[in-house]
Amino acid sequence: MRKNKELITLIVPCFNEQESLPKFYQEANKITKRMSSVDFEFLFINDGSKDNTINLIKELSKKDKRVRYISFSRNFGKEAAMYAGLENSKGDYVAIMDADLQDPPEMIEKMYEIIKKEEFDCVALYTSSHKDYSFLRKLFTNMWYKLIGIISSTKQVAGARDFRLMNRKMVDSIINMEEYNRYSKGIFSFVGFETKWIDYEAPDRVAGKSKFDFIKLFKYALEGILAFSTTPLIISAFVGILFCLIAFITIVIIIIKTLIYGDPVGGWPSLACIIIFVSGVQLFFLGIIGMYLSKTYLEVKKRPIYIVKETEESNK
Ligand code: UDP
Ligand code: MG
Repeated sequence: MRKNKELITLIVPCFNEQESLPKFYQEANKITKRMSSVDFEFLFINDGSKDNTINLIKELSKKDKRVRYISFSRNFGKEAAMYAGLENSKGDYVAIMDADLQDPPEMIEKMYEIIKKEEFDCVALYTSSHKDYSFLRKLFTNMWYKLIGIISSTKQVAGARDFRLMNRKMVDSIINMEEYNRYSKGIFSFVGFETKWIDYEAPDRVAGKSKFDFIKLFKYALEGILAFSTTPLIISAFVGILFCLIAFITIVIIIIKTLIYGDPVGGWPSLACIIIFVSGVQLFFLGIIGMYLSKTYLEVKKRPIYIVKETEESNK
């Protein structure tokens, strides 16, 4: 028998979200009631929370049969949580949303309408204002998007959030990208498909604190570059050629000067500076090669992206 209602999966990665979770469920539930022409499933991913998050999810799952969950054995990061959600989603359409209500559930209604009427594969949201960012975070974010725009052929929309509604085809193609070092914003763009972008102002977190500090964000930005550009390696090769060229020209000049003027050997301080400078440049590019190598090493090992401790099935 053909089912007549379409199913939307709401994937919600949660890491220490005991304050936000009840509020999220309350708001999301209102929308699911309003959108009676579709069925919903909630798929909470407990990413190794140390607070009461898992118990709250279990309670929800007991009283609402639409609530499913996957609980990780430890914290694997939001990227792993999103992947686990996509892999285990059953919906014809799948949305990824934060638990802190920065991705307002009421947007789902509009996103679903667009995806159906305008025949897009994906409706995604971005924020252009970043009003909650500090001056430095805004500066670095803008610089990063400019840089990645230049050095990567995978298009990145500035201010893109992970909040998006995708159809099954797009979800399946993302699941097929099984890389260990995951940078989803790049992966979403890499798989292609028609995406409609909507600008919206992300509200403040409803409760709790952001899980991303400066160091985590820096690592995430670096991940984006290493995963979607090899330009740094090409630059290192070009710098190498440039330095060889400079060395060749200087050698020719020194030989000619010595032949004409018979200069005695001198200038060791400048020589010392050159040696230090060149070694610095070499170490810098060795570091860049090392970063790519370390990512390759992790890919080759084929470690699991996440490890499941329990799901709603385990309690049946
Ligand atoms: N999150 C997660 N694992 C982590 C860090 C964050 O599952 O290691 C979840 C978090 O619970 C939230 C979402 O990812 O639902 C976004 O995190 P957060 O709101 O802290 O990030 P921000 O909005 O400040 O960038
Ligand atoms: Mg947030």
